[in-house]
Amino acid sequence: MIPVTKTFFPPIKDYHGQVQRIWDNQWLTNRGELVKELETNLKTELGVPNITLTTNGTLPIQIALKVLAKGGEVITTPFSYVATTSAIIWERCKPVFVDIHPEYLTIDETKIEAAITSQTKAILATHVFGNPCHVEEIERIAQKHDLKVIYDAAHCYGVKYKGNSLFNYGDVSTCSFHATKIFHTGEGGALFCKDEELNHQLFYSHNFGHNGPEDFYGVGINAKMSELQAAMGLSVLPYMNDILKARKNIVDFYNKNLNFSKLQKLKIREETHWNFSYYPVIFESEAKLLKVQKELNEQKIYPRRYFYPSLNLLNYVNRETMPVSEDIASRIMCLPLYKDLETDVLFEITKSI
Ligand SMILES: *Cc1c(COP(=O)(O)O)cnc(C)c1O
Repeated sequence: MIPVTKTFFPPIKDYHGQVQRIWDNQWLTNRGELVKELETNLKTELGVPNITLTTNGTLPIQIALKVLAKGGEVITTPFSYVATTSAIIWERCKPVFVDIHPEYLTIDETKIEAAITSQTKAILATHVFGNPCHVEEIERIAQKHDLKVIYDAAHCYGVKYKGNSLFNYGDVSTCSFHATKIFHTGEGGALFCKDEELNHQLFYSHNFGHNGPEDFYGVGINAKMSELQAAMGLSVLPYMNDILKARKNIVDFYNKNLNFSKLQKLKIREETHWNFSYYPVIFESEAKLLKVQKELNEQKIYPRRYFYPSLNLLNYVNRETMPVSEDIASRIMCLPLYKDLETDVLFEITKSI
C-alpha cells in the first residue's frame, strides 16, 4: 500500500541511545536534558531566537489565541487543516473567514481589511503546504489596525522566506511535529516568538502558569513536551538533510513527468526556500479528481484530499460562502511524497494521472 505520507523511522539504535539517556537521568518530563538539547539544536538549525517545545501542534495555536485574541474575532483562512478553525472555536473566539488566493492558496491579503470590525483582535493565517502568506502586507494591515498576527506554520519546518526562517514572522508562529509532518517527535509541536515579554507569557502559559514550584504568573495549561518525545526528535534531526533531499527528488520527478496542460500545481511564493512538504495538484473538476483517485486506489495508491472540505463549511461555524476556497478544496489532492517512495511507483502515479 502506498499512502500519501509515511513516517520517517530513524535507526532503532539511535532511538535506543536517546532513550538510554532518559533511563540514566531517571527524568521523564518537566524540561529534562533531552527537551533542552532539542530546543538548542532546533534554534541553531532553524535560526530562531526562541522556541518552546509543546506536546502537539494544536495547543500552541490555542495558547497564542488565548493570550492574544482574548475571545474576540479572529480573521482566518478557510483552506487549512481543521485544527486552525477548531482552535479558534475551542478558545471561544469567533472565526471570520477571508477567502484565499487561487494560486498561492494562502489567505488573500487584499480581502483582509474588509473583514475587520471593532471586535477583531487577531489574524490567524496558515502558510499552507509550507507556502508563505504575504507576510509583509499582513504585517502592514495588522499594524494599521492594531491587530496581532499568529501564523499556523505547521507545515513550515525548514522553510525560509527572504533568507529568514518563516517561523520568525508574525507575533507568534506555531509548528507541528506530528508523525505525518516533515520533522516529527511522534506527537509534538512548537511555539516561536521573537518578543521576549510575550515569549515569557507564552512559555509560562504552556506550563500551568508556574513561576517556580509555589508561585504562579497567571493562568496556564499543560502543553509540555516530554523527554520521550524529545528522544524521537533528537533521533530524527540528524537525518533531516537526507529527508529533504529525497523529497526534493520526488518533487522534481512530479514536476518533470506530470502534464500541466490540464493540471495546476502549487505556486510557491517568490523568494521562498521551500521544504517539499506536500505535492498538491489541482484538477479541472472534482469529477476528474474522483476518477483519478479511484484509479489510484485500485492500484493500492492512496493520495489524500488535503484540504477538504473548505473550513467555512464546517457544521460549527457560520457558513459564509468562500468561492475560491470551496472551488479549490473540491479539486485539490496531495500525491504520495515521502523519503523512500520508489521510482516505479512514481511512474505508475504519473501515468494514471
Ligand atoms: C497538523 C496540523 C495542525 C495540528 O498539529 P498537531 O500536531 O496534529 O496537533 C495544525 N494546523 C495544520 C495546518 C496542520 O497541518
